[in-house]
Amino acid sequence: MSEQEHSASAADRDHKKLGKELELFTFSDTVGKGLPLWLPKGATVRRELERFIVDEEIRRGYLHVRTPDVAKLELYEKSGHYPHYKDSMYAPIEVDDEKFMLRPMTCPHHFELYLTKPRSYRDLPMRIAELAQLYRYEQSGELMGLLRVRSFCLSDAHIICKDEEQAVEEMGLALDLIEYANGILGLEYGKDYWYRLSQGDRENTEKYYKDDAGWEKAEGLLRTLMHKRGAEFIEAKDEAAFYGPKIDVQMKNANGKEDTAFTVQYDLSSPQRFELDYTGEDGKKQRAFVVHRSSIGSIERTMAFLIEKYAGAFPLWLSPVQVKVLPIGEAHFLYATEVMDALKEANIRVELDVTDETLGKKIRNAKTEKVPYLLVIGDKELAEKKVTLESRDAGNLGMVSKDELVERLLGEIKNKK
Ligand SMILES: [Zn+2]
Repeated sequence: MSEQEHSASAADRDHKKLGKELELFTFSDTVGKGLPLWLPKGATVRRELERFIVDEEIRRGYLHVRTPDVAKLELYEKSGHYPHYKDSMYAPIEVDDEKFMLRPMTCPHHFELYLTKPRSYRDLPMRIAELAQLYRYEQSGELMGLLRVRSFCLSDAHIICKDEEQAVEEMGLALDLIEYANGILGLEYGKDYWYRLSQGDRENTEKYYKDDAGWEKAEGLLRTLMHKRGAEFIEAKDEAAFYGPKIDVQMKNANGKEDTAFTVQYDLSSPQRFELDYTGEDGKKQRAFVVHRSSIGSIERTMAFLIEKYAGAFPLWLSPVQVKVLPIGEAHFLYATEVMDALKEANIRVELDVTDETLGKKIRNAKTEKVPYLLVIGDKELAEKKVTLESRDAGNLGMVSKDELVERLLGEIKNKK
């Protein structure tokens, strides 16, 4: 935990304010409300998040795919999303007498992908994942920075399972992944996030898929899973997906507004609607089970939480600029460039300050930009072919050689600390 985290007030942490000051993202009325434009620095942070989660998911047996951002209206009618999500979807785009929709979710795309060839019990569980760009209409009064936008990228997945037992097991594994990722992102259970068991409402058959016994059973399975994990959770009625109950990971932003950050969902409806089948061990056709889950949620929303959590002072692996090289005078520029090149060669994100400001001013500027490491280069450093290393969080760390520096930084980046 950095000093900044302790000291910054809620207003100083506001991700909209920091997003602007640190040049992470912006909005343009000409592009459209609720459509963030990622500046190079913000795009760097989200790319690191995306790389991290994709690599981790692949390690855990997910199959990463790409599916299109638009699909025919019929797809969402087939999935049953259309009547429930109509108000959050954009109007159809009409092309050659067909109606296309900007997708509000990925589920039916992944189900169609599953259906492209016959599947056997040996293929299951099949964990289909995608960093999927989604489009949802939000009223302009509801839009808020990166927390509520009209287009976002969801770290989404649909896990096709052979039976109920496997589905529950997969939900547990999805929660393991969420907890692992939260640990890496520095989000603490009980402090930064908590669990909610989001249930349906048997009376409301318009909002929820009608299957009283199915809901009763599924909610029981989720409750038992959470008890077995020893996880505390709150119960919430009328917060489920239309197709089934879910376990939500809830978080609050700097101003105390609560949102669902990540989610794991049990689906009572899609296997029937899409006839998601597989050949069982006995050679007979069986109906599959489906789990929906997001691992690090919407990249936009998670960025908002992280910007506020760290008050913009990201850990080294996420920092848009990891090192700033500060030559004291012109005589030190050449050696400073050599140091910068060595860091670049090692894929460390580095900038060189060649302004003619005083060293004090250069240091203050780099601190305002919340750069984790500063390298000061003057006569002494040049003579000894070393650099003075100054940490944002730990102060002056003394003189080190180029090689020691690279090794230290790469180690820290790899450990994501
Ligand atoms: Zn889904």
